[in-house]
Amino acid sequence: MDGQAAVIELRQVRKVYQTGAIEVEALRGVSFAIFPAEMVAVMGPSGSGKSTLMNLMGCLDRPTSGSYRLAGEETGQMNDDRLAEIRNRRIGFVFQSYNLLARMTAVENVELPLVYAGAPRRRERALTSLERVGLGPRARHRPFELSGGEQQRVAIARALVMEPSLILADEPTGNLDTRSSEEIMALLQELNEREGMTVVLVTHEADIAAHMGRILRIRDGLLERDEVVSNPRHAALRPEGKL
Ligand code: ADP
Repeated sequence: MDGQAAVIELRQVRKVYQTGAIEVEALRGVSFAIFPAEMVAVMGPSGSGKSTLMNLMGCLDRPTSGSYRLAGEETGQMNDDRLAEIRNRRIGFVFQSYNLLARMTAVENVELPLVYAGAPRRRERALTSLERVGLGPRARHRPFELSGGEQQRVAIARALVMEPSLILADEPTGNLDTRSSEEIMALLQELNEREGMTVVLVTHEADIAAHMGRILRIRDGLLERDEVVSNPRHAALRPEGKL
């Protein structure tokens, strides 16, 4: 990976929350880099700083001290507008609860980031994104007409539609049964293998982390371990077989 520019680079990142007279140091000097096409799981006990770390990596917040570069750009001095802009352009978010709008069809949900960005050819691009996750035929369905796994695939299509540098996923299989979780992991692995997508995912489940190439273990606001997964588990393909 020498010479290749990092997608994510943290150097001695600290985050202190101030609530009244009490200071909580949620991150106490965390350094690591993530390179293009890596698949990385973030694990750690409750309260260890995972959400704080995801918020920083997702440009929803800035470090108290230290440096965070996203795709080479230092985020520490950015104002809120600039932070929002880089977030919308560079990062596709996937959440445990899908966060789809119930009144909208799948394709309308996927179009939303393009609407906010005032982008052209919205319908066409949203349909292409749905096809990338194998859901072209479900484009006109509303969320309640789709299974949990399908809803999460729509959410992944929405995350992909702005062509981000990275997907940041917070417990993306937390609401899914084993089979649907496997489908989502198969999809993320396909996006990674075919398109070189970088994926960073928080999970509590060792089974899910075993599909990733690397595991960052956070404890008490510090990076406790940075391990390579020597033989990542390959998720079984969906019944349809392909994207
Ligand atoms: P995790 O996601 O691993 O459960 P968090 O990043 O949510 O950990 O929390 C790390 C520490 O920071 C905890 O002690 C938590 O109470 C504290 N913390 C998180 N967010 C805030 C906040 N907005 N204000 C004050 N303290 C916070």
